[in-house]
Amino acid sequence: GFNCGIVGLPNVGKSTLFNALTQAGIDAANFPFCTIEPNTGIVPIPDPRQDKLAEIVKPERIIPTTMEFVDIAGLVAGASKGEGLGNQFLANIRETDAIAHVVRCFDDDNVVHVEGKINPAADIDVINTELALADLETVEKALLRSAKAAKGQDKDAIALKAVLEKILPHLNEAKPLRSFGLEKDDLKTIRSLSLLTLKPTMYIANVDEGGFENNPYLDQVQAIADSEGAVVVPICNKLEAEIAELEDEEKLEFLQEMGMEEPGLNRVIRAGYSLLGLQTYFTAGVKEVRAWTIPVGATAPQSAGKIHTDFEKGFIRAEVVAYDDFVACKGEQGAKDAGKWRLEGKDYVVQDGDVIHFRFNV
Ligand code: GDP
Repeated sequence: GFNCGIVGLPNVGKSTLFNALTQAGIDAANFPFCTIEPNTGIVPIPDPRQDKLAEIVKPERIIPTTMEFVDIAGLVAGASKGEGLGNQFLANIRETDAIAHVVRCFDDDNVVHVEGKINPAADIDVINTELALADLETVEKALLRSAKAAKGQDKDAIALKAVLEKILPHLNEAKPLRSFGLEKDDLKTIRSLSLLTLKPTMYIANVDEGGFENNPYLDQVQAIADSEGAVVVPICNKLEAEIAELEDEEKLEFLQEMGMEEPGLNRVIRAGYSLLGLQTYFTAGVKEVRAWTIPVGATAPQSAGKIHTDFEKGFIRAEVVAYDDFVACKGEQGAKDAGKWRLEGKDYVVQDGDVIHFRFNV
């Protein structure tokens, strides 16, 4: 599975967000994967399309696709130098596929700010500096190794050394590498280093209930994100935690009262999903309507492999109906009648929302 690490200074609302995310997951009907470690939660991806499909197919159960969130607490200034178990936290971040960086954008005298004052730009800088310094260390070590290997005319080592030398000054200024503008080939060359500041990153601006508009703190976060090409998701984690605790019916009522169509958490989850370049296809049978996660660009056999490796090996054809067609034609039979049902081969690139039935040999 794919996972997203939640980072940020202490007391900015990380645990509140994490708890809301995981609590929201537990009450999903027929949810089969509930193993939740203390700091790791498996969260269903909310997808209204799946409910639409279920209305048509009327399956016994609905199984959403999921993403993992990991609460990585304890990142403080000096972490890259080992302050406050810093290295351990940095190692945890290295294992994640994407980063959700929570930034405090709310005033509350009862909640102590570790740096003494609410200042989103400075807070972001503290975290990004630690991540960049951790990358600096990684790059310096790799440079020593590759410099040795490059003497032996090793082509890969020479290429690696060139890229590392190019990015070193940027990291020396403690700037995140995502703002460097590396070319695709260069990114590939250094991929195995799992550099932290190259991970897809979103800023979660934790605002007050009334802080979604005309909020200078939020503007600061947005400006920084824009300069790096990162995404911002404004959310009120405290409110989300309250919403997550409600029963289904109460929840709907509460959301209506607040003028919200859905919990704001859904935006965080979806942003994480798209940050990772993921998309969804569906299988829709009478037993279950199920969503499956694939990377954008995955072929039909690769997508079949998500269900079972045998499906990929023995792939013959995919029976495909686009989501919109499936809904407009009220199901597979209707789609067939309307000429919207397709047989696709092994080179077919699966599209977001495709409803698929795989044919395979065992
Ligand atoms: P963490 O250290 O980053 O995990 O922060 P916590 O989630 O433990 O939150 C720290 C404190 O801030 C707690 O007392 C929360 O109730 C409070 N808090 C979190 N989000 C909000 C918010 O949106 N508004 C306000 N006023 N307080 C919040």
